[in-house]
Amino acid sequence: MYSYVATLSLYGLDCKEIRAEADMSDGLPVFEVVGFLSGEVKEASKRVKTALKNSGIVLPPKRITVNLSPAYIKKCGTSYDLAIAVALMKAMGLIPKDKDRGMAVIGELSLSGEVKKVTGVLPMVIEAKNLGYSRCMIPMDNLKEASCVEDMELIPVSYLQDVIDHYHGAYVPCIDHENTGCICENDTVGVDLRDVNGQESCKRALEIAAAGMHNILLIGPPGSGKTMLAKRLPTILCEPDREEMLEITKIYSIAGLLTADTGLITERPFVSPHHTATPISLSGGGINPKPGECSLAHRGVLFLDELPEFSRQTLEILRQPMEDRIISISRQQGRCIFPADFLLCAAMNPCKCGYYPDRTKCNCNSEDVRRYVGKISGPLLDRIDLCGRAMRIDYKDLKQKGSNVDSKTVRMRVEKAVAIQRERFRGTRIRFNSEIGPGDIDRYCHLGTKQEKLMKSAYECFELTARGYHRIIKVARTIADLDGSEEIKEEHISEAIGFRTIDGRYGNV
Ligand SMILES: [Zn+2]
Repeated sequence: MYSYVATLSLYGLDCKEIRAEADMSDGLPVFEVVGFLSGEVKEASKRVKTALKNSGIVLPPKRITVNLSPAYIKKCGTSYDLAIAVALMKAMGLIPKDKDRGMAVIGELSLSGEVKKVTGVLPMVIEAKNLGYSRCMIPMDNLKEASCVEDMELIPVSYLQDVIDHYHGAYVPCIDHENTGCICENDTVGVDLRDVNGQESCKRALEIAAAGMHNILLIGPPGSGKTMLAKRLPTILCEPDREEMLEITKIYSIAGLLTADTGLITERPFVSPHHTATPISLSGGGINPKPGECSLAHRGVLFLDELPEFSRQTLEILRQPMEDRIISISRQQGRCIFPADFLLCAAMNPCKCGYYPDRTKCNCNSEDVRRYVGKISGPLLDRIDLCGRAMRIDYKDLKQKGSNVDSKTVRMRVEKAVAIQRERFRGTRIRFNSEIGPGDIDRYCHLGTKQEKLMKSAYECFELTARGYHRIIKVARTIADLDGSEEIKEEHISEAIGFRTIDGRYGNV
């Protein structure tokens, strides 16, 4: 008897249609699974056999062959177990043949016959829909994330017995309809810009960064609240649209970071790797590639605290995503691409001791300061648009509670500026001012005569590079958008110049 069941493979973000074929013929009793398998898939034969036995199904003493086709795709992971079990039950005649039309089966089995949660269910169900499947059988614990896909009938199962009952019309999954809504809250809940006293200039820099998705560097002495400020950045970013939410959730699904209670992720992520992070933890990798911190920050914030403490090799990894907004990992089986489009927020002390230019505490000479700033590579600094300088807080500011602006107010201003940018860039690939290329500057950021003059004097006075010059204009464009002004005025340019970033060559912090 021959039968097959449809399932999907996952490699990076890439899903492919797979057929789990089962054949039972007369001959010596053997049970083998073939089809370019990795170690964990080879073990599937033992898991499936035992799970079937413990669910009351004994395989007949025949020559049983299971093939995962097509054979040129390497099969990794444990999500094929359930499909193999269903294919076997079909071949044994335990399941009516035509009952699974248009259905894809995904899930891992435990020896007891329990169906266990697997990673990457969301991208697999999305691909199943694209391939024309109308139904998916998935583990119960993956129901929430799979529910994010519209127009797909889901059959969540907890045990192998549920699967058999389903095919005989005796299984009604207990879906808590109240709770299939797709809400997830990350740990930014409860934090608010209101909590930070003083640091008005930094707050303004964060607002501009959020409005144009500009990369930002916060410099200031230890304890001035740089980390606190950075953690509040996600609370003022514009809300992700549905497509972005799906992109974020897909990455977390593959990384195995969604719990059974997590549906669609509706907030922009905030990821802060420690400065001891390795290049691989940032880029992602592994035999069956998993996304790294850069991709987990996709559509959100990647926060690097104590920037000069990161190793050069680790920071080098950031070059590709900051240039192309993706991370590509080369493997024997081919290239694997993860999206990595994030807002980089970095924080650092101004010098080794941390107190420059406070001469009462800092003994560093200008050469020391230059060397400290020089630890950050030029190409990275080149990608940072804005620099906020945190100061030691005055006693008056420390005590002043309740006068601080809250995240909600700032977010409303940001959303307005983002709406203006959507309108401006309609029909192009650009979404935010920070993405304007050098060739498009004149088109989107027109400067009047006075403004040109101001930029010319800034260019000469601060010895700007061409890149630095463009950065200031792009930031000024965002400031004008926050102001609701179509024209970039002189005041917008002056403010942008005030937030210009440091330069590793001069160390002019
Ligand atoms: Zn110092």
